[in-house]
Amino acid sequence: MTLLSVQSLSKSFGGVAAAREVSFLLERGEMLAMIGPNGAGKSTLFNMVGGQLRPDQGVVLLDGQNITAASPQKRFRLGVGRTFQVAQTFLSMSVAENVQMALVSHNHENGALWAPARTRHRDEAMALLEQVGMADMADHPCAALAYGDVKRVELAITLAGEPKLLLMDEPTAGMAARERADLMDLTARIADAKSIGVLFTEHDMDVVFGHAERVIVLVRGRIIATGSPEEVRRNEDVRRAYLGDEHALEKPKGLSPA
Ligand code: ADP
Ligand code: MG
Repeated sequence: MTLLSVQSLSKSFGGVAAAREVSFLLERGEMLAMIGPNGAGKSTLFNMVGGQLRPDQGVVLLDGQNITAASPQKRFRLGVGRTFQVAQTFLSMSVAENVQMALVSHNHENGALWAPARTRHRDEAMALLEQVGMADMADHPCAALAYGDVKRVELAITLAGEPKLLLMDEPTAGMAARERADLMDLTARIADAKSIGVLFTEHDMDVVFGHAERVIVLVRGRIIATGSPEEVRRNEDVRRAYLGDEHALEKPKGLSPA
């Protein structure tokens, strides 16, 4: 069954139509990129799928279940994961403790019992850290991590919720090119291994064309093209939408030697 079905979603802010009858499907294990110029409505759509925003019109189905009106917490329980800016408490804990906290929360355990019991879910947390390549940093304070490593821990925290669907709105913002490619390689590997559907947006076209199986192009709230990276890159409407920024749609350059 289709994992995510977005049907005719619309949302206006005052006079601005941020999303106009947007429809698309996302399958399990699929990496789907949503691209478009600034202000195209990408974050608005992510927020309507994640539950932070209620659409004016349209329907969101997860595994066939209508979640259009469900809270973000309800969606999280149903398997909608989202990478966010890290929490305030994040920096005060170690890498492993952050993941353990996420596991405590996912298992609906009492957070108040947490403080004296820093051993809970340790093995599970280590397994997740192994998957994101951060096991050897487990006992380091998060405050001491490099930015790219924070993003890996953030991914492990999100995976602790056992998502079926992962929403990543500009996950690699602020990262260097090499780190961006690494994080998305990692995400793609994990998504494939766990059959997680990933919806992501990203300004870097190398990352988009290198990691998406399918691409949706949004302009002024409307989908103007959808297809494989190759099809989208060749699409005349897409090229026009990116006019003045024609290099954005060039083929991935690959990583040149230092
Ligand atoms: P993107 O993520 O593609 O850059 P957004 O979804 O953030 O685009 O924004 C789409 C349009 O909706 C923009 O014109 C933006 O100014 C407007 N918009 C987004 N969120 C709000 C809001 N909370 N209030 C008013 N206008 C908003
Ligand atoms: Mg945005």
